[in-house]
Amino acid sequence: MTQTPRAKAPAERRRPGENPASHASAVAIAAETMAKSTSTLDAPCRVIDLSTGLPSLTTLFADLRPVVEDPAGAFALYVHLPANALVEEHFGWEALEAYLAVVNNFLLRLAKDTQRERSRCVIARAFADDYVLVMPYAEGDEEIGSRIADEMNRHVQVVDEELASMHEVYLGSSRIKLLPRIHPERMLYRGIQRAQAEATDVGRHRLAAQTRLLDRCIQHPDTFSMLYQPLVRMEDHSIFAYEALVRCSAEGLRNPHVLFNVAEQSDRIWPLSRLLRRKAVEHIKELPGDALLFINIHPHDFDDPQIMGPEPYIKAHAERIVFEVTERAAIGDFVAFRSRVDALRATGLRIAIDDLGSGYAALSSAAELNPDFIKFDMTLVRDIDKSPIRQNLIRNMVAFAVEAKVEVVAEGIETPEELAVLRELGCHFAQGFYLARPAPPFVTAITPRSGEWMRPPPRRAVEVPPAL
Ligand code: C2E
Ligand code: MG
Ligand code: MG
Repeated sequence: MTQTPRAKAPAERRRPGENPASHASAVAIAAETMAKSTSTLDAPCRVIDLSTGLPSLTTLFADLRPVVEDPAGAFALYVHLPANALVEEHFGWEALEAYLAVVNNFLLRLAKDTQRERSRCVIARAFADDYVLVMPYAEGDEEIGSRIADEMNRHVQVVDEELASMHEVYLGSSRIKLLPRIHPERMLYRGIQRAQAEATDVGRHRLAAQTRLLDRCIQHPDTFSMLYQPLVRMEDHSIFAYEALVRCSAEGLRNPHVLFNVAEQSDRIWPLSRLLRRKAVEHIKELPGDALLFINIHPHDFDDPQIMGPEPYIKAHAERIVFEVTERAAIGDFVAFRSRVDALRATGLRIAIDDLGSGYAALSSAAELNPDFIKFDMTLVRDIDKSPIRQNLIRNMVAFAVEAKVEVVAEGIETPEELAVLRELGCHFAQGFYLARPAPPFVTAITPRSGEWMRPPPRRAVEVPPAL
């Protein structure tokens, strides 16, 4: 039979301070041991990183005693390079070495310049190809991280444009002040760890960098252009309308989903959407025949007082404009949302519910908004010719829409088979790469092309204006 371990006798469970005599002697022993041992802060030799010639982080400490003992304290900057693996995968290890040499030269020069201003600045190679700089603290140091990141980005851009498109650098910093009861070496470690944690919080840095880029793009409206994708009548492929779709030329914001995601998270939807609505109507007078213009509206735009104005350049052409409202907007405060949609319609605008079937609203609640059009999401459309269940669903949805006097657009059509089935199911209009890709204003002839859309577009050079 196994015996349960005996619980510790009360005498063995002594808490610190319970026995003052033995606690004091333990502290004395620890102090004596510490005095005898060599602190890393006093280490005489160091391990050198072979590719950069810099000391490794663990032995950097030998140079740091005078820095951390500065009365103002020390300032640690952690330089994180998250793209290294990507550079190596795309361009090979030689390219990564060359890239790191560029970064290394930049940081060495920075350390030298800093040494000129302050007595010391120590640089070391940290974990996973990252770098640490430690220097005596100076007023305003908290700001230098983003300045260094900008300078470094410019430097890499000048040296190698292709690498620059992958290069990412994130800086974290922390101020280190010695405390009388804490070992200086430990304070230093904690400071470097804080700087590292800040630098490696990539999501936060990425959003901050993307937000800065977005702000600069909004200040330079020419970074945005509009493409227009035709919507055609099912019966004869004649063009009935065009949907305006934004393109941003700044690397990193090219994809509209990324663009709106960044704008959403950084609270920039209103300024972005105002600019894009103005852009979308720029060519409205050149619209062929009596074609309509579909303009996408972001759900947050419905809280913007300017849109309800309505804006003069929208009001002037209201009878040719259809606002596309994604079905996501309909969730939330439905009554308030419905009254805004009604107010817009009263100005002469028409309303389409976009992306229906993508998973949020039911057809019945979308119909409550009394739209002029509904657009079936491409997830319903994809391979519809092979799915009797979805065919049945669409047949019923079309019947419901026709009953409510709503016209139906099927978007994202990529094959002649999808087009044929959707026509047979009663959809009124068709949109998709099979018929026409989004293009500059305005495509007037529809020549269906199966499969051509699948070719990836050629890789383009970085296309940001010089001011960015
Ligand atoms: P959306 O409004 O549903 O637009 C349709 C998207 O599907 C467009 O993507 C279009 O290029 C793409 N598309 C069209 N036909 C096909 C096809 O046959 N196959 C495939 N795979 N895709 C097709 P895009 O231009 O990347 O826009 C994505 C989304 O970004 C839009 O979805 C819309 O929600 C938003 N967006 C684009 N431009 C604007 C804008 O100016 N303002 C606002 N608020 N949103 C916009
Ligand atoms: Mg749309
Ligand atoms: Mg859509």
